[in-house]
Amino acid sequence: MIRSIAAVFVALLLAVPALAQSAPADVPRTALVIHGGAGVIERSRLTPADEAAVRADLDAALDAGQAVLQRGGPALDAVVAAVKVLEDSPWFNAGRGAVFTADATHELDAALMEGHTGRAGAVTGVRTVRHPVLLARAVMEHTPHVFLAADGAERFADTRPELERVPNDWFSTPRRRAQLEAQQSGTVGAVALDAQGHIAAATSTGGMSNKRWGRIGDAPVIGAGTYADRGCGVSTTGWGEFYLRTVAAHAICARVALRGDPIAAAADEVINRLIPALGGDGGAIALDAQGTITMPFNTAGMHRGWIHPDGRRGTAVFATD
Ligand code: ASP
Repeated sequence: MIRSIAAVFVALLLAVPALAQSAPADVPRTALVIHGGAGVIERSRLTPADEAAVRADLDAALDAGQAVLQRGGPALDAVVAAVKVLEDSPWFNAGRGAVFTADATHELDAALMEGHTGRAGAVTGVRTVRHPVLLARAVMEHTPHVFLAADGAERFADTRPELERVPNDWFSTPRRRAQLEAQQSGTVGAVALDAQGHIAAATSTGGMSNKRWGRIGDAPVIGAGTYADRGCGVSTTGWGEFYLRTVAAHAICARVALRGDPIAAAADEVINRLIPALGGDGGAIALDAQGTITMPFNTAGMHRGWIHPDGRRGTAVFATD
């Protein structure tokens, strides 16, 4: 007995310097991953100048999220900061640059979730709020509800003077009008791990081009397009109907929490096996409590950017990047 206690003591003494070496207390392990939509993103459709502009906006979103994480701010603030930048970019299908509905208007969806508290907020069918992710956050923080839709969401927005409002055609861009026939998609999202070890995820989208009848996709549905818990965070992009049917974001985090799958294996199984088996496609970004980032997709491209815990960062657009 005494010998085994001594053995544990010695093991601890040996382990402490090793732990200190792998994770110095003064360097918090934060991580950030963002996406700007998966889909028909091919080199032949994007000029080098366009690609540079897309990457510059991805970098600006990374900078915004990273600034929060570096000053020790919460993961929730980091994902909101990153998504706000992407919502303002005309290159992505969220906020300005959102796709057109079949009625040639814009109906925006957004959601966010904080992993360690399990709090969440979401909106769908929003027409006049410049940053739908901020409205989703307001639902979380200033109502007893999780999910508000269309006119009700607009009426709630009327009660929040801090939210900027714009006419619906402010979201229109010529490029999206040209795509109305092409059923293009795309979305934005962010997942962050903060210095306290907390995870948050956010997603914002115009939905699918040409959508009809009040169609709601996966992005604003907690568990389908957006999910976070203590050990995992996910934001998805792709053909939303299939992400709804597989409850994709939760399916990824459940594999990590309940089965102990590595985050990359969990995300790969859902994105590259379950969803294609039903006939869907798309991608996701995800990270775990160690800051391990994964970004699987099965389309020609996915706009994406990342900052690993060790500071390595990058952006990419095509599958071949
Ligand atoms: N998943 C989104 C939706 O179905 C669209 C996308 O990510 O491209 O609304």
